[in-house]
Amino acid sequence: MKKLGVIGAGESGIGSTILAKEKGWDVFVSDFGKISCEVKDQLVALEVRFEEEGHSLDILAACDVVVKSPGVPDTAAIIRDLLDQGVSVISEIEFAFDFLPEGAKVVGITGSNGKTTTTNLVHHLLAQSDKTVVKGGNLGKSFARLICEGYADIYVVELSSFQLDGIVSFRPDVAVILNITPDHLDRYSYDFELYADSKLRITQNLNHSDLLIANESSEATRIRIGDSAREFEIKWINNNRLQLQNYAHDNPYLRGEHNNFNATVAIEIARRFGIAESMIAQGLKTFVNDDHRMQSVAVYNDIEWINDSKATNVDSCFYALSSIDKPIIWILGGVDKGNNYDVVKDLVDARVKLIVALGLDNSKVIQTFEQMKEVYSVRSMAEAVRVSKEKAEKGDVVLLSPACASFDLFNNYKDRGNQFIQQVKNQHALAS
Ligand code: ADP
Repeated sequence: MKKLGVIGAGESGIGSTILAKEKGWDVFVSDFGKISCEVKDQLVALEVRFEEEGHSLDILAACDVVVKSPGVPDTAAIIRDLLDQGVSVISEIEFAFDFLPEGAKVVGITGSNGKTTTTNLVHHLLAQSDKTVVKGGNLGKSFARLICEGYADIYVVELSSFQLDGIVSFRPDVAVILNITPDHLDRYSYDFELYADSKLRITQNLNHSDLLIANESSEATRIRIGDSAREFEIKWINNNRLQLQNYAHDNPYLRGEHNNFNATVAIEIARRFGIAESMIAQGLKTFVNDDHRMQSVAVYNDIEWINDSKATNVDSCFYALSSIDKPIIWILGGVDKGNNYDVVKDLVDARVKLIVALGLDNSKVIQTFEQMKEVYSVRSMAEAVRVSKEKAEKGDVVLLSPACASFDLFNNYKDRGNQFIQQVKNQHALAS
C-alpha cells in the first residue's frame, strides 16, 4: 500500500487525503497548528491517522510522497529535513494531476493579480457549453477534491506561485500568466526574480498541443519566454492595446482596464474550446464575480462606496484607482509586504482627494503620501468609514483598496471587506 504524508490540514491537505484514500493509499496528516474539530471528525470518518501541534519526522519520512500545503514555506524545518532525507515533497496540484481522468482538459491560471476573477469568468463562459466544467485550486475546492468528485471535461484551476513551486509533471492544456508584479516577496528571499521564476513554472511541461496565454506588457514574462525555441503555442495579449467588445464594459463586475484584460483572456480560452460568439457575449453580460473585488457596496447622496479589500498589493490598487474617474477618498494600509508606491503616485496626485491610512502601523503610508495629500491615520474600520463619510462630497467615490495584507486588524481580507460593508451600511442607517 502506498503511503502519503500530508503537511497542513487545510483545503489542499484534506483534498489530497480524500483523493489518496479513494485510490487506496495509506495517509498520515500532520499539522504544526491545531486542527479544527470539524476536520478531525472528517479524518476520523476517513480512518486517517493525524497529529497536531507538531510534526513526526520519522512517520513523514517513511512516506512515498509528502504533499505540502501552499502555506508552508520551503524553509520550514520539517520540509528541509524531509528534503535532506530524499523524500519527494510536492504540492497538492501535482499529486492531483496524476489522477486526472483520461481525456479531461485543464486550464491553469496564474499571475499576481486577477487569478480569481479570470478563473471565475473562464468557468462561467465555458459552462455555457454542454461540457462539464468545474473550477477550483487556489479558490474554493482544491484540485484534488474536484478530481474526487467525478469526471469533468474541463478543470479550470487557479494556481498560486506556492502551488506551482511544488509541481513536477503538472501540465495544463491551456496555461495563463496574467501578470507578474511584486507580491509575496517575503517567501522569495525578497527577490522578485525568484518570484517571477516561480510563476513561469506553469510552462515547464507544456508541449506542442498546449497553449500559453501571456501578457505582452509584462516584461518579467516576456524576458523569460523570450524568442527561444519552445514547443508550445503562445498567444500574447497586450494589456495596453485591448480591443474588447463593448458589452464587457456594461457589466459592473468587469469594470476597469484590468478586467478588460481578464475578459480578453477568458474570451480567448472560450474560443479555443469552441464556445459560440453569441454564448460568449451572453456570458460576459451575466457574469457575477466574487465579493471584495471592486465591489460596489452602496451609493448614498451620490457618493459611491467600493470594497476592493482583495487588493493586497500596489499593482491591484493601481488598476482600482485607474478605473475610477471621480474624486477618490482612498482607504489603504495594513501589513506592508515591502510595498513601493511609486507606480501609483501620479494617479494619487490626479485622482485622490484624501487618504485614510488604516492599520496598526501607518507610518509608511503617512510618510509616502503626506507631502501630496491630506492623510488621516485610523486604527479601526469604524473610524475609517466615519472619517470618509465626514469628508466625502457629492460625486466622490470612497474606495477601500488597501495594498496591504489584513492581519494587523482583521482575520483576513474577507473580514476586512465585510467590516467595511457593515460600517458603511450601519453608519448610514444611523444617520437617516
Ligand atoms: P487574485 O486571485 O490574483 O488575487 P482577484 O481576481 O481576486 O485576483 O483580484 C485581486 C485584486 O486585483 C482585486 O483588487 C482586483 O480588482 C485586482 N485585479 C483583478 N484583475 C487584475 C489584473 N489583471 N491586473 C491587476 N489587478 C487586477
